[in-house]
Amino acid sequence: MIKKILIANRGEIALRIVRACRELGIHTLAVYSEADEQSLHVQLADEAICIGPASGSESYLRADRILSAAEIGDIDAIHPGYGFLSENAEFAEQCESCNIEFIGPRSETIKKMGDKAMARETVAKAGVPIIPGSDGPLANEIVATKVAQKIGFPVIIKAVSGGGGRGMRIAHNAVSFAKEFLSARMEAEKAFGDGSLYVEKYLESPRHIEFQILADKHGNMVHLGERDCSVQRRHQKVIEEAPSPFLDKSLRTRMGKAALKAAQAANYVNAGTIEFLVDAKGNFYFIEMNTRIQVEHAVTEEATGIDLIKEQIQISSGKRLSFSQKDISLDKHAIECRICAENPSKGFIPSPGTIDLYYAPGGHGVRVDSHVYGGYMVSPHYDSMICKLISYGRTRKIALDRMYRALSEYIIRGIDTNIDFLKAVILDPAFRQGEATTSYIEEFLARAPKDLLDKPVKESRK
Ligand code: ADP
Repeated sequence: MIKKILIANRGEIALRIVRACRELGIHTLAVYSEADEQSLHVQLADEAICIGPASGSESYLRADRILSAAEIGDIDAIHPGYGFLSENAEFAEQCESCNIEFIGPRSETIKKMGDKAMARETVAKAGVPIIPGSDGPLANEIVATKVAQKIGFPVIIKAVSGGGGRGMRIAHNAVSFAKEFLSARMEAEKAFGDGSLYVEKYLESPRHIEFQILADKHGNMVHLGERDCSVQRRHQKVIEEAPSPFLDKSLRTRMGKAALKAAQAANYVNAGTIEFLVDAKGNFYFIEMNTRIQVEHAVTEEATGIDLIKEQIQISSGKRLSFSQKDISLDKHAIECRICAENPSKGFIPSPGTIDLYYAPGGHGVRVDSHVYGGYMVSPHYDSMICKLISYGRTRKIALDRMYRALSEYIIRGIDTNIDFLKAVILDPAFRQGEATTSYIEEFLARAPKDLLDKPVKESRK
């Protein structure tokens, strides 16, 4: 039985976990950095322990301090959220050896699927299509250039330990390849402490479509349908939705089966995500598995009615899944916008500072997952996402109209945000028609009027 959980994270996801625990009658222990003392997750948890200064490397990434807090707090389990230590196999292993339930897969699964080259190999062996690319990491730029030439340009160079869209480079020919390879290696070494790289064929304007997996400790596994996360900026997701406007029934069935095969090949337990790229013809290819809860999990929750955080906790407690594949359907359409403290008219530079005035939208079909409030100081030390705004309804059109209405209600003063930018996207005919690929934002910005981001968006919806 899990009676008390330490939440090894901050921001909206820490608050999301506090809420799920409260509904399950589980006690919570928040850990926080000095910069987060006033954060809502600290105020709403049952107990809280400060684990260090603002910088992540001195607090939320310090396994030793988190495990000391775990001992003081006498907890049964740790929920790692996303980011920070959530995909750190060593941390999961330390939890295992301290007899603390790590709410996620086993450490060996994290290790296997966290190495993106090994993950490709694992799922390919199980018959899941992968993008043509190198077999494992590449020793140096000479070997890598030969492999890239064989695959055919353009290619994408990726870090074996990569994540968050970092350490990736696109090369269009052999000359630029060698240069990009070396700079990707430097970036990967700095960001992940591992400079190993692999190469894949670069697909032009694919869609990013991922499947949510849930698996219990008794061998039961289901997928909860897809999320379309094609609207990205610099390989980072901005808007996500479920179901995808692109998939038909047959493709959804085939991709769902492939996702289950990939997760089974990893002997997966708990919540995880299988990510695919899909070309215009409907060919799909595995790109990676995320062995944790995703930022965008809320759209699956609203489309299926299943609480993923509670399911994670129940699975960790040893409970069996209470539903099977035939019980799951995407009955509603749900959309999520990531609201960030940033300035789109200045190249999306972060805009930390104090929120002077805050009014969040609400009403039918609107969900706000956020840790901020009026008077809250958005710290420059962390990710600039300050809110996940989710809308849902019976149809995609209802969800889209609701999203526009909710974005229009939102009042955040004192810092810059991307709300006006998101409003313009939600009104854009190409997006509304479900045509967005991973090139969408770049194309949208290129054709948008120069002053679009400086002026209020014209409300010319038909
Ligand atoms: P990360 O783990 O850093 O998020 P991913 O492998 O998940 O990296 O890829 C992130 C995004 O990068 C994808 O959603 C897609 O937009 C782009 N991308 C990755 N691989 C390819 C590829 N082979 N061709 C085209 N785009 C790609």
